[in-house]
Amino acid sequence: MIYSLKDVTKKYQSRNGPVRALDGLTFDVRRFETVALLGPSGSGKTTLFRLLNATLRPTSGKLSFDQRDVSAMSSRELRQMRKRIGTIYQQHQLVPSLSAFENTLCGSLGSWSLLETLRNAARPAKRDTDKAMAALEAVGLADKRHARADELSGGQQQRLTIARVLMQDPDVILADEPFASLDPALAESIASLLLGLVQNGKRTLVATMHDVELALRYFPRVVALRYARIVFDRAPSDVSREELSALYGDVSKPNVDLPLEQDIQEPPGEYSYKQHRAR
Ligand code: ADP
Repeated sequence: MIYSLKDVTKKYQSRNGPVRALDGLTFDVRRFETVALLGPSGSGKTTLFRLLNATLRPTSGKLSFDQRDVSAMSSRELRQMRKRIGTIYQQHQLVPSLSAFENTLCGSLGSWSLLETLRNAARPAKRDTDKAMAALEAVGLADKRHARADELSGGQQQRLTIARVLMQDPDVILADEPFASLDPALAESIASLLLGLVQNGKRTLVATMHDVELALRYFPRVVALRYARIVFDRAPSDVSREELSALYGDVSKPNVDLPLEQDIQEPPGEYSYKQHRAR
């Protein structure tokens, strides 16, 4: 089991009062599983994502990564955990003026010491340049290695973010809307590329998605959130059309209100709401 969540709740203190962004989630993710996370806006997907990459802590309940309770980890253990997780964000976070090759090389930054970073900035080690080339080849961008990131098309940029995450060689890839902003044919080809790389590379993938059809077609397991809770967690063949329309049906009801409590302050070091929204 790579992730295990037991009754995980996350509460935020917002300007309008307390918000329960996740409410008693219990589920596991097995090693090498590929999971699509669905749900309307505000259902808690981003919050769950940030618990999974350990940039947020649960308010209550237990989240384990590789059998270790995340809340009990030292900062060193947390750093090690984060190195094993590669995150693909919606905004590509590529450096526009750097080449595809240099952007890929940047995927290793998190695992380099300061000395290695300085040394590699001047002259990257052969081991790393070989790895970057292999990653670019894996995503079909070897011939574009000298092109600046901002000269690449949307689909190529998305491939480049995948190359960069492969460079990190993570056990787990968390992808936030990896196929959004691509036309349907491109989304399909990137989905098949990512799923193939994850399965061949023996990695685990959790991806938030808004394209339900794509999720049902490519992912063997679909977890759906609504109002901070899991409404279903099953194979696509067992998900009915009624469940899907209920999932995205009227979400105008205000989020779960809670009595004001003392325990909902975010621990120091977590992003503030403003920073989160500005991302
Ligand atoms: P999604 O990614 O599905 O849109 P989020 O996890 O971003 O959902 O948000 C779930 C709920 O928590 C929403 O009601 C949102 O407004 C609220 N929320 C998210 N982050 C914060 C925060 N840092 N402070 C206060 N409320 C938050």
